Amino acid sequence: MARLMTRMFFDGAWRDGATTYPLTDKFTLEPIADIQVPDREQVDSAINAVARAQEACSLSGWQRAEILGTAAELVAGRRERFVDTMITDTGFTMTDADREVGRTIETLRLCAEEAKRLTGRMVPMDGAPGGAGRLGFTLRKPLGVVCAITPFNAPLNTVCHKVGPALAAGNGVVLKPAPETPLTAELLVQTLLEAGVPDGLLALLPGGADVGQRLLEHPVPALYAFTGSTRVGEHIARTVGTRRTQLELGSLASTIVCADADLDRAAELCVNAAFRKAGQVCTSIQRLYVERAVLAEMSGLITGKLDGRPVGDPRAPGAFVGPVISPASADRIEAWVRGAVASGASLAGGGARQGSVIEPTVLTDVPADTDVMTNEIFGPVVVLRPFEDFADAVAEANNTPYGLAAGVFTANLDRALAAAQRLRVGTVHINETSSSRVDLMPFGGVKASGTGVEGPRYAIEEMTEETLITIGGSGR
Ligand code: NAD
Repeated sequence: MARLMTRMFFDGAWRDGATTYPLTDKFTLEPIADIQVPDREQVDSAINAVARAQEACSLSGWQRAEILGTAAELVAGRRERFVDTMITDTGFTMTDADREVGRTIETLRLCAEEAKRLTGRMVPMDGAPGGAGRLGFTLRKPLGVVCAITPFNAPLNTVCHKVGPALAAGNGVVLKPAPETPLTAELLVQTLLEAGVPDGLLALLPGGADVGQRLLEHPVPALYAFTGSTRVGEHIARTVGTRRTQLELGSLASTIVCADADLDRAAELCVNAAFRKAGQVCTSIQRLYVERAVLAEMSGLITGKLDGRPVGDPRAPGAFVGPVISPASADRIEAWVRGAVASGASLAGGGARQGSVIEPTVLTDVPADTDVMTNEIFGPVVVLRPFEDFADAVAEANNTPYGLAAGVFTANLDRALAAAQRLRVGTVHINETSSSRVDLMPFGGVKASGTGVEGPRYAIEEMTEETLITIGGSGR
C-alpha cells in the first residue's frame, strides 16, 4: 500500500512541514504514513495567523452553531471512514472506535447548542450601598487563541471536547494532536473546514514534545486546553505562568462492588470499563474492590465474561481487545504484571503478550507496593482487592495521588452517600463504573488528576472571559 502523507494546516492552506516522521499501524507495526512536522517559525506563523483570523472574525452565535451542527452531521455521514482511520491510528477495536465516533457526534451537537447560549449574568447592584439605581451585567467574550494539546487515547472525542467549545465560544484554535494519532486529527480538521469553519481560525500542527514546547513558549495563546499525563500537565502549568490552563491529567481509578449489588450487571460493566480501548482510558478500572463475601463469585463472573472473546487483530469481527499504543507501552505493562507476580500476586486470567497485544489480565493477591497498584498502568490489567469494611475500601481507593473518578455498586443508600462524601475524586458514579461518562456532564479531576472542567457548557465558561458593565445610578 502506498504510504499516506499527512500535512499540516494553517493560514488557510495545507502545507509541508520542515521534517517528517513515520507513522505505524498499531497492530501490524508496518509504516503507513509520513507525517509533516512544523519547525519553530511555522509554529509561530500558525499561531499568529489564527490570532489575526480570530480578531477579524465576526461569526454570530447562530452561525457558529450552524457550523458545529453541520460538522456533527458530516462526521455522522462519514462514520465508517472515521472508524477505519481511528483503528489505524490507535489500534482500537471496531467497537471501541465506533463508540468514540458516536460520542463525538453528540459532543459536536452539544457544542452547537451551547454556541447559542453564551450569556453573562445580571448583578444586583442595588444590594449594596452605592449601587442604587444602577444596572449591572456581564458580557461573556472569547479569549482569543485556544491551544489544544491532546493524547492518543481519545483522538477524536477529546479533541472535539476542546476544539468544539473553543469554536462555539468564538475563539480560534491551534490543535496539536498526539504524535501517535495524526490521521484522525487530519480527517477531523478537513471535516470542520468543510462544515464552514473559516480557514484561518483553525490550525493543525502535528508533532510531539518539541512542537508542544514551542506552543507553550509562544506568548499569544490565552488558554492551553490539555489532556494527557500528569507529568506533562505539570510542565505546562510551570511553563505558561499566569495564562489559563485546562488540565485533564492522569488517574488511577477504582470501582467498589458491594455484596448487595447486582453482581452480574456489575461484572459486565466492570469488564467493559477495565478493558475497553485495551485499558487505555483515564477512568479505566485499575483497582476493583470487591466485598470479600462475593470475591470468588465476582472473580468467576469476570473471567467467565472474558472467556472466548477475541483478542489481537482489532479489525477481526467481534474483536474485544486490540494492541496497546506501542511495543514500548506493552513492554512496560508486561514488566509491571511480571513484577506483581514475582512479588506474590496470582493471575486469575490473561497475562500473555504477543507484539503490542496484552491479553486482558486479572490479578489477585497483589501486594500494595507493586507498580500495578501504585502507578497508572494504562493497559488491559485489573487488580481485584477484597474488602470487609466498606470504609477501608473507600480509604484505599483514596490512597493515590490522583482523583478523577470512582464507581460504587451497592443497593445500600448509606454506603452510596458515604462514598459520595468521602471519595476524593471529580465524579462518583453510583451503580456505574468509574469509566461511565455522558458527554454533557462536567468532567474533571482533583489532586494530580488536574484542574478545569470539560463538558461543552463548562468548557465554554473556561474558554471565555467576563466583562462587568454597570449603567447609570442615582449617585446616592
Ligand atoms: P502524554 O502526556 O504523553 O501526551 C499528551 C500530549 O502532550 C501529546 O500531544 C504530547 O505530544 C504532548 N506533549 C508531550 N510533551 C510535551 C511538552 N513538553 N510540551 C507540550 N506538549 C507536550 O499523554 P498520552 O500518553 O498521550 O496520554 C495518556 C495520558 O493521558 C494518561 O496519563 C491518561 O490518564 C491521560 N488522560 C487523561 C484524561 C482526563 O480526562 N483526565 C483523558 C484521557 C487521557
